Amino acid sequence: MRIMSRVICPTCRGRGADVEVTCPECAGTGIDVGHENLYAQCHTCYGEGSIEVDECPLCGGEGTIDEDHFGSGGEGDDEEEEDHQGGA
Ligand SMILES: [Zn+2]
Ligand SMILES: [Zn+2]
Repeated sequence: MRIMSRVICPTCRGRGADVEVTCPECAGTGIDVGHENLYAQCHTCYGEGSIEVDECPLCGGEGTIDEDHFGSGGEGDDEEEEDHQGGA
């Protein structure tokens, strides 16, 4: 059994809403890459590179996320590894 500990969402800092996220349209560059003008301003974030969304995309508006969500790198000694060697 795995214990899920919840941590404050780092994206919205627990607010769950009205959070600024990297613009998905331009990936934070502020530039509309699909535009004929190479340096056209992104129409989604208006060149800001970030937008404000009603619901935090990371925690889904809950304000907290599973600590597991981060995917601890090499900390756990009880990794769920698939053990398919030979079969028998
Ligand atoms: Zn943008
Ligand atoms: Zn959040």
